[in-house]
Amino acid sequence: MNAYSIHYTLSFCEPQAHYMEVQMIIKNLKNSTSKSIDVKMPVWTPGSYLVREYSRHVESFQVSNVNKKQKVSFQKTNKNTWRIFNDGKDLCISYRLYGFEKTVRTNFFDEDHAFVSPASTFLYIDGHKNLSSTIEVIPAPNWTKISTGLPTVKNQPNIFFAKDVDTLIDSPIEIGNQATWTFEVENTLHEFAMVGGGNYNTEELTKDVSKIIRTTNKIWPENPNERYVFITHHYKSAYGGLEHCNSTVLATSRNGYNKPSTYQKYLGLVAHEYFHLWCVKRLRPKELGPFDYDKENYSKALWVMEGFTSYYDNLILRRAGILNETEYLSLLSRDFNAVYLRPGVKVQSAEMSSFDTWIKHYRPDENTINSQVSYYNKGALLACALDLKIITETNGGKRLDQVLREAYMYFYMNLNRGFELEELQKLAQEITGVDLSEIFNAASLCEELDYISLFQKVGYSLKDHNKESQKTSLGIDLRTCEQRLYVKSVKRDSAAWKNGLNVHDEIIAINEERVDTTENGINSFVEECPAGEVLHILIAREGRIRQIDIQPQKDTQPKYKITPIKNRTSEQARLGDIWLSL
Ligand SMILES: [Zn+2]
Repeated sequence: MNAYSIHYTLSFCEPQAHYMEVQMIIKNLKNSTSKSIDVKMPVWTPGSYLVREYSRHVESFQVSNVNKKQKVSFQKTNKNTWRIFNDGKDLCISYRLYGFEKTVRTNFFDEDHAFVSPASTFLYIDGHKNLSSTIEVIPAPNWTKISTGLPTVKNQPNIFFAKDVDTLIDSPIEIGNQATWTFEVENTLHEFAMVGGGNYNTEELTKDVSKIIRTTNKIWPENPNERYVFITHHYKSAYGGLEHCNSTVLATSRNGYNKPSTYQKYLGLVAHEYFHLWCVKRLRPKELGPFDYDKENYSKALWVMEGFTSYYDNLILRRAGILNETEYLSLLSRDFNAVYLRPGVKVQSAEMSSFDTWIKHYRPDENTINSQVSYYNKGALLACALDLKIITETNGGKRLDQVLREAYMYFYMNLNRGFELEELQKLAQEITGVDLSEIFNAASLCEELDYISLFQKVGYSLKDHNKESQKTSLGIDLRTCEQRLYVKSVKRDSAAWKNGLNVHDEIIAINEERVDTTENGINSFVEECPAGEVLHILIAREGRIRQIDIQPQKDTQPKYKITPIKNRTSEQARLGDIWLSL
């Protein structure tokens, strides 16, 4: 029998000022022998690997007995822990939360709606993460709908049930007047909740998402959900998502649905987050569940969880017939360009990018391009390498799908635990009979795999079309501000890097001619500069004028393209079809 019963109430007295009221009632404390309990708020949310210090938005924290006649003493023992000195009675904890950050992993409340990010909302009792709870939502007077992956308590449409703390923290709640509809795909009920407008076509979207779901279901041995909720937030311009076990929160541009590339990108996001319900939410490395909500949970395996998912999101769109072959190859080429555009690929491995995400990936700065590689697209390239290698070496008999399927059955369904990277590699090799050590080892190194020959074996060519180009460059990115042109980043080993052009330098003139204050304003000077010529660049740095002389270098920005080989052999064509056919 549970020692405690926990009931939360969420209400909204002043949503227009971005506040939500939270009450947490804990009953049956008399069964507890300790003289105090600690309640905690997570400092981060799974899926977004940054300590966000959610408790900074808590205010007016109070504790009383349940009939609210007697105050109960408490003290804050650290940034996210409150120690409550109970006297054997039931407790009522109340606090207010400020929420005004428009992301998929932070609270947001206004007069139109409330997005409740559970990690930044709910307190849990330390040491009792197995306890279930009920969550009552009292919407603001003009709000009519509640969308969440949590089930309701029987005959109580506003009261939800969470079987344990992990489930509670994994279940965002959208409250307002969102457009909603449901549809069933292969025995799973799916629900859309569209917040803040959007020029989507309900019928077309339902059809396309159903295709994505059916295609994804084929990869895995089961769809573990009876119900799944897609919550989409619409903004003027946005892109992002956060995965959960039986729901996801997506952000996209309100009016992007009738633009094919933006719509495809949104569907790619849907495919990505849906894939996560298996890959990372259930099939996961040991470090990522059960979670420690108190601090960073370090993992070297995000290149697998995010990288494989990034590889599969567009591949699923291709298999579902939403992307044609050319469109798919162009998106895959983009991953190569994104990886090799960054000099950081030479100094950070995919494993270290995963491990250090807490201090690096989520905290980008002007030097990120030089010091980091993204475990998303580098991981996608490694996943692609594994898929191509397995297809080739098994003569088309197996591919990465089988590895994921078996790994899910073994680690999640049979053992119900997370894996070590070495265990995943061992299992992948056992299932396929292929030695995959070169690719798994590449995740911990900065050396490159021979992608060209991997593609060639399945009848495709990978080529950097900029390699032979004679174009020159300074190696900087620019930004404009108030009609002035500033250096935004300086690439490692570029002409600007070697000659000391700095981020934040204002570029005023080149060779005594004032530059256009557009982000392309210096291109004409640089690209037309004959090899060997020196450019005299007049800059302002911290209000002081100085001249820097720079000789532009050959442009090293890659422009990868993956294309079918024209005269491919029947064997190449057969394997290529296995890789990319519908
Ligand atoms: Zn992801």
